Amino acid sequence: MKNSLALVLVLAAASQAHAEIGYRVQPQPDTSQLAITVTIPTRAAETLVQMPNWSPGHYMLQNNGARVKDLVATDRDNKPLEVTAVDDHTWKIPSAGTKQVTLRYSAPLEFQNGIGHYSGPTTYLYVVGRTQERCKLTLETPKDWKVAVGLDGNGPSYKTDSYDTLADNPVTLGSYYEETYKVAGKQHIIALRGAAADKIDKKLLRETCETVSKIETEFMGGAPYGKYVWHFTVRSAGMGGSGLEHLSSTEISLGSGFSRRTASLLAHEFFHLWNVKRVRSQVLGPFDYTQLPKTGALWWLEGTTDYFSTMLLGRFGWTPEQELYNEIASNVRRQRRSPARLTVSPNESSARVGETNNGRGNSNGFGLSYYDDGFVVGLCLDLELLAKTNGKRSLDDVEFALWKKCRNNQPGFVEDEIRKQLIVAGGESFGPLYDKLVLSPGELPVEQALSYVGLELAERGEIRSVATPSEEQLRLRKLWLAKKR
Ligand SMILES: [Zn+2]
Repeated sequence: MKNSLALVLVLAAASQAHAEIGYRVQPQPDTSQLAITVTIPTRAAETLVQMPNWSPGHYMLQNNGARVKDLVATDRDNKPLEVTAVDDHTWKIPSAGTKQVTLRYSAPLEFQNGIGHYSGPTTYLYVVGRTQERCKLTLETPKDWKVAVGLDGNGPSYKTDSYDTLADNPVTLGSYYEETYKVAGKQHIIALRGAAADKIDKKLLRETCETVSKIETEFMGGAPYGKYVWHFTVRSAGMGGSGLEHLSSTEISLGSGFSRRTASLLAHEFFHLWNVKRVRSQVLGPFDYTQLPKTGALWWLEGTTDYFSTMLLGRFGWTPEQELYNEIASNVRRQRRSPARLTVSPNESSARVGETNNGRGNSNGFGLSYYDDGFVVGLCLDLELLAKTNGKRSLDDVEFALWKKCRNNQPGFVEDEIRKQLIVAGGESFGPLYDKLVLSPGELPVEQALSYVGLELAERGEIRSVATPSEEQLRLRKLWLAKKR
């Protein structure tokens, strides 16, 4: 009996370990809703479920609890369980002895012209204290529907290692326009929807996506995902767009006037596969969905991401040299237009973003934009490193060192890690330099940084070559603009 009991215990432990939290999602096109069923194996006397108060990547509070409608719960025998709202995004269900709680509710689905789209944090409830347990998503769609989601597998069921992974993979489904290509041995899917999806230059869009994937996976040394999905929605007006990064996909809203220059937006979002999604502060995964994360590194994660993605398009030949200078110059002009740069540091702009908008946060920064500031700080640090190490080191080395620390599901970095890696790359003087550029407000030394490569800011803020650059300046400029340094 002793052995049998041990065996029973082992089996019980195994079945507990294999139990996963199930999510069944059925689109209801007629009502633009999703019918969602969550199956929760449980041994707790009470089960608490919540909707995230924010979506990773958007540093602002959302009222996602209000999206949950008609929430009901049943036990394993399908008997009703009482659901009590604890606050506007939390519910409790008595679950003593039930072993399994099943929740049913509906949440909004964006649905137009036969195409649906939804994102995870605004749709999926999670079980409090159990976001790191495995989940299984089953998408129940009509047979002729296509499905684009960055999760591994071909559906209709997808297994994930955690709620975080489930929630960080938005879904496009139905009769959307699809293109696929392979880069770095991985499948990439373009899923296009929106009022003006027919108007966009699809050949150019595909060429841009493919080029961006090639450039950045080559630069970072591989593709850290199973497959990747570009979820595009196309508006009828405008040229530019906006995007939100995810673990193995992105959601991008584009104007139908998409041009080669829009590549910078795509390159920015794709570079988030590393910065933010993997190379990240520790608070950026695993997530606490109840409150906005606080990190002083958004200038790097957003602004320096923008610097890298902009530079890589130039270094790999997509953006012509003068156009690259123009883009750098327009960033510098934007940054210098903000008087707050003299009173707010990049670190403070990042760390205090949650205080803006009456404590609801924004996606741009406290006082000034961590995008503009982080871009210019990245430029200054990159050129300082090249100059002080005689061209042997650059900001590439700092990015690669951070990647080495964070890759393969390692925890994110601690707050002074970027400073530490700058010192490793450039020597002790980079500690005080970091403190000056990142931790203190003040004018960033753009003129000095550009002078190392024989460039200058002209009167109207454009960047041009000095009249007679030295050989050393030209050598460093060549390195700065090289694919591989
Ligand atoms: Zn971004």
